[in-house]
Amino acid sequence: MDDIAARLREKKAELDDQMGQMEQRPSDQGSISFGKRVGEGTSMAVDRLSQVAVHDQLQVTLADVNRALEKLDDGTYGTCDVCGKPIGEGRLEALPWAVLCVDDAARR
Ligand SMILES: [Zn+2]
Repeated sequence: MDDIAARLREKKAELDDQMGQMEQRPSDQGSISFGKRVGEGTSMAVDRLSQVAVHDQLQVTLADVNRALEKLDDGTYGTCDVCGKPIGEGRLEALPWAVLCVDDAARR
């Protein structure tokens, strides 16, 4: 179990780092290579949107990592937050911060 906590903390640090980098960087990349062809602002807007989507995704994952750490503390780690069934070893192996079973994760 200590291994899992260590993996989760590592992932959390990685996510914090990625989000920190995104928040710092103004959207001045992209304007150099694409600026003129697509039309003023278009490529930058698209860039910005995809960055926002990635950022949202990172935030969702971070929330899961935090929740998984709480579940380790409560002793409910490995069970689904919605239905309470076991999440499954294969899934936890691939996604140690999974807090929902495959079915509930698909419905979220
Ligand atoms: Zn479930």
